[in-house]
Amino acid sequence: MRPSRAGVYAGMTAALLGLMGNAAPANGVRPGHALALPTSAPQFVTVATARGESRLPVTLDSAAGPAISGEGLVRALSGGVLTDVPWVEVTLARQSFRFLLGAPVFSFNDRLQPLAGWAFRVRDSVFLPLQFVTEILPEVLSERYQWNQATGSLREIGPPPAPPEVAAAPRPPAGKQPGRLPNGLLPGHVVTVDAGHGGIDPGNPGVYFPRGMNEKHITLQVALLLRNELKERGIKVVMTRTTDTLIGILDRGRYCTDECDLFVSLHVDALPANARRRYGDIDGFHTIIIGEQNTEDADRIARMENDALRYEGDNPAESGDGLDFILRNLQLNEYLRESARAAELVQSEVGKVHTGTNRGVKQSRVLAVLNTARRPAILVEMGFSTNPRDARLLTSRKSQQALATSIADAVVEYLLEYERKTNDGSAGGKGR
Ligand SMILES: [Zn+2]
Repeated sequence: MRPSRAGVYAGMTAALLGLMGNAAPANGVRPGHALALPTSAPQFVTVATARGESRLPVTLDSAAGPAISGEGLVRALSGGVLTDVPWVEVTLARQSFRFLLGAPVFSFNDRLQPLAGWAFRVRDSVFLPLQFVTEILPEVLSERYQWNQATGSLREIGPPPAPPEVAAAPRPPAGKQPGRLPNGLLPGHVVTVDAGHGGIDPGNPGVYFPRGMNEKHITLQVALLLRNELKERGIKVVMTRTTDTLIGILDRGRYCTDECDLFVSLHVDALPANARRRYGDIDGFHTIIIGEQNTEDADRIARMENDALRYEGDNPAESGDGLDFILRNLQLNEYLRESARAAELVQSEVGKVHTGTNRGVKQSRVLAVLNTARRPAILVEMGFSTNPRDARLLTSRKSQQALATSIADAVVEYLLEYERKTNDGSAGGKGR
């Protein structure tokens, strides 16, 4: 299941309104969340600690859902709250939770996670989704907090807070099998493979491709081969598409959920028609990640790939600078190091089988397809359809297979490094 594009945009709109200091979006527009809002909410929440009890009123916002006062909650639990627009940081039991004002996400242990509602401000007061005390605190800090649905009370229990280093350690994921695969990987890794474009969006026209073949065909062919290669290496694969169909550019990243280790988007580069005289000179492959060090080439690619938005029809007004800003906030630098390392390894492995130039790893601030991924994410431009030699490579079944194999090898190397680095015996996205 994936959130609707309308939901994404409603969330973005809400985020923009939140930035401007409004508590709720107009028209009661309600985003299509991953989690449903509760059908009934208590009027009060009781917060019980060894120091006493507090009763906090529940505010029902027509758009953001049931919420409680952030200041009231941290007072009752001896925590802290700090607003640094667009974020609100709540510290409880020496753990930090960051809420994006007006957007249904929060960040814990550097990981963005979905919410049913969202945090908002009314004048100087911050309101947090009720879900924070009914579900999130009792789950992620279960040693410390218990929620009683029948009495509508949150109880502080357990030992005093541990020192930050211990408290901040990631929880080992449940249900992972011990033992390693023949390639040294722990089982349980998940990679999302995104075949660029599709359906009414052909991608670039593929000047030197056989007639009737566009970028969207090549990306899907290589993506399906990559799926097989990853599966053979013991990695679970989630595909954004397996047929010739259009997936919204902002929906693609959302296929890479908390369990997903890496988002890999496959594309074919092309020079614009007015650069045609340079066709013969420009060839090769590069991998793009989200980052601040924009280059001219990365800007060109971002413009070209973001252009797919025009096939989605219902959103031109919302693809301006404001949306870009929010998107950047969601992804920028969160996984820069991991994304950069995965991209380097892809460049290195693909370099062993590609006949074109290794153009390296590039950063872009505004590559829409990557901006919404909540995990490390890379976009591989596998060659230029505007270069005859690259075009031959991209359309040859044998070379497509070699590309898929090399990318899969790079993914395994990346995951092995990632496992060694996190060194907590866990596979999957939870090991951060
Ligand atoms: Zn593309």
